[in-house]
Amino acid sequence: MYKAKAYSAASSTAPLASTVIQRREPTERDVQIEILYCGICHSDLHTVRDEWQSVMPTIYPCVPGHEIVGRVTKVGSAVTKFKAGDLAGVGCLVDSDHTCPSCKADLEQFCGNATFTYNSPDKHLGGVTYGGYSDSIVVDEHFVLRVPANLELAGVAPLLCAGITTYSPIHRWGDIKGKKVGVVGLGGLGHMGVKFAKAFGAHVVVFTTSPGKKEDALRLGADEVIISTDAEQMKQHAGTFNFILDTIAADHDLNAYINMLGLEGNITLVGAPDKPLALSSFALLFGRRSVSGSLIGGLAETQEMLDFCGKHNITSDVEIIPIQRVNEAYERLVKSDVKYRFSIDMASLKSE
Ligand code: NAP
Ligand code: ZN
Repeated sequence: MYKAKAYSAASSTAPLASTVIQRREPTERDVQIEILYCGICHSDLHTVRDEWQSVMPTIYPCVPGHEIVGRVTKVGSAVTKFKAGDLAGVGCLVDSDHTCPSCKADLEQFCGNATFTYNSPDKHLGGVTYGGYSDSIVVDEHFVLRVPANLELAGVAPLLCAGITTYSPIHRWGDIKGKKVGVVGLGGLGHMGVKFAKAFGAHVVVFTTSPGKKEDALRLGADEVIISTDAEQMKQHAGTFNFILDTIAADHDLNAYINMLGLEGNITLVGAPDKPLALSSFALLFGRRSVSGSLIGGLAETQEMLDFCGKHNITSDVEIIPIQRVNEAYERLVKSDVKYRFSIDMASLKSE
């Protein structure tokens, strides 16, 4: 074991603060990574504040962070994909059982024995896993992604969660070219959803509660912007969408968005509010519409997404912050004041 610098929360009400954690020495299949940037996902905030208590209670101290990009410092003897000096990425998963039907189908995110990057039982050290708000991490090579060399690293980090979480459902939907696609909420996930839907040729419409984000939405690739609090604008588009991606992190009126769908339209939820959303059967019955959910993506699909981003020069629009400003960033996240992902420059941890 060795010591790594990190930021952790001691309880659901404590701010994140500097700490030292234990990491394992790399085993023969492990890759040790010096973390250069880590994105701040709203899931980090939900977890740190124990907002998902009823589904996934938080074990403290909690070191969040699952949008990790860095440089390989050491590899185990059986590692074939990486060598010291390579760029590497780690997302929400660090282990799974490799034997279940989900793992065999490259859907490791649905493995019953999956180990998530933080707040998950740590098979090596006991306790729970610690995430990317740290200067280094040690991960089984199967869960380490190759990073295209042409992309700016601060903006690559968020691809590891916000990127794959939006790429996967949009890509899976089918041929989206020319279809009317809605993205609800212009935050970390939403702005990536806009970029991918646009890259796949859709007619992209952003639903936002923040009128001030309209210009940015258009710059990011949206063809139209609807201010969702304006009933008249909502009415004009009712019944016209083929597919909607809902990224809202808080309670909201789901039925208002279902009513935007046309015949057999689908709304896929990726946002994870702590409380259940009310669902009107009538909104689904009229138009044979459907609601579904999507969770990140498997490792193969995550690599495919990163390669796609390399080819099309897609990264996240980030506000780079030192780790000392992480608590302030959380407050801004709650207020939907993020443009459009915070990316922590981990060099700032050296001074702690
Ligand atoms: P974020 O950056 O905070 O963005 C969420 C956006 O939702 C906000 O910017 C805001 O956009 C909108 N919003 C927030 N509160 C709202 C409210 N009360 N009513 C209407 N709109 C509201 O969050 P994120 O990191 O993108 O994450 C979004 C959600 O996805 C979180 O719940 C997160 O835990 C979840 N998530 C799920 C997965 C998965 O695999 N399914 C992966 C990662 C994250 P506007 O200002 O444009 O309205
Ligand atoms: Zn995330």
